[in-house]
Amino acid sequence: MNEFDLIQRFFTRPVQGVELGVGDDAAIIRPGIGHDLHVSTDMLVEGRHFFPDVDPFALGHKTLAVNLSDMAAMGARPRWALLSLALPAVDPEWLGAFARGFFALADLHGVALVGGDTTRGPLTLSVTIVGEAPAGRALRRDAAQVGDDVWVSGELGAAALAVQHRLNGDQGLTEAALEACRRRLDYPQPRVALGALLLDCAHAAVDVSDGLAADLGHVLERSALGAEIWFDAIPSPACLGVKRRPYLDALLSGGDDYELCFTAASSERAAISSLASAAGCRLSRIGRTVAEPGLRLLDADGNTLPLRSHGFDHFQD
Ligand code: ADP
Ligand code: MG
Repeated sequence: MNEFDLIQRFFTRPVQGVELGVGDDAAIIRPGIGHDLHVSTDMLVEGRHFFPDVDPFALGHKTLAVNLSDMAAMGARPRWALLSLALPAVDPEWLGAFARGFFALADLHGVALVGGDTTRGPLTLSVTIVGEAPAGRALRRDAAQVGDDVWVSGELGAAALAVQHRLNGDQGLTEAALEACRRRLDYPQPRVALGALLLDCAHAAVDVSDGLAADLGHVLERSALGAEIWFDAIPSPACLGVKRRPYLDALLSGGDDYELCFTAASSERAAISSLASAAGCRLSRIGRTVAEPGLRLLDADGNTLPLRSHGFDHFQD
C-alpha cells in the first residue's frame, strides 16, 4: 500500500461543513460569521505519551481527545482537524483500528478531518485542531481575577494512577478500580460541552493535562495571582473510595486527566453548579484566587500541605 492509498483508505471520508477537504494542497474552511478561529496543536510520541502496546482504537480516540480538550479549555467549539502521522510501517489492521477510534470521537463532536501529512518514522501522531467561538469571547488563562472561585470538572488522578501501576507496580488498587483508572487513561473525555457553557460565567480556564498544580499554576502566572486550594475539596476518583494521602501526588501532579480547571466570580456559584447535568460531569469548587502570588494547598484545619512535585515537563531531568 502506498502513501496515497493509505490516506484514501483510512483517512478520506465525505465531510460536512468544509469547502474543500482531504486531497488538495490545502483544505478550505469557512468560519461562522461573527466568530473567531481558535487553533491549537498537540503531538503524541510513542514511549513518551503512550505505551508501545496501546490499543490502536484507544490511541485514535486519545490523539483527537487531547486536542479537543484544548478547544474546551478556550470555550471554543472544535470543528476541523488535521492529522499528521509518522508510521514505522503500514499495518492495515492497526491503522483501521486507529482510524475508527479517531473518527468515533470526531463524529461525536461534529469535527471534520480536513487534511494532514503522512510519513515513515518512529510512531508519532500530531493533530492540529481548529475551532470557533463568538468573536472576542474566550476562556483565556490571563483572565482570572482576585477573589474568584477555583473549580474543577470531573475527578482527578485516575489516569496517573494507571500510569504509576504500569511503571511501578501495585498501587493498592482493587481490580475494578485499576480497570476504571486505565479507562480514564485510555479514553479521556474532553469537556467540550462544559467549555462552551462556561463562556457565559467563567473568567479563565485551562485543561488539566500536566497535573492540577502545574496547570492551575499557568493560569495564576498569566493572571498575576495566587490561589489557595483545599485538598479535601479536590474530587478524587469515586472508584478509589476514601481519599488517602498516598494519592496526593496523583491528584496534584498526575497528568492526563483532561478535566477543566476554571475560575469564576463567586456570584456565579449557583449558575455554575446548575451546569453539571448539561455538561455531563461533576463540578467541584476547590479553592479561591488571592492577590499574593503562589499556590497554597490547605488541609481541613487550614494547615499548609507540601506541594512537592509539579507537573510533567519533557525537558526536566
Ligand atoms: P503534499 O504533497 O501537498 O504535502 P500530501 O501528499 O502530503 O500533500 O497529502 C495529500 C493530501 O492528503 C492532502 O490534502 C493532505 O492534507 C492529505 N493527508 C495527508 N495525510 C493525511 C492524514 N494522515 N489524514 C488526513 N489527510 C491527510
Ligand atoms: Mg504532505
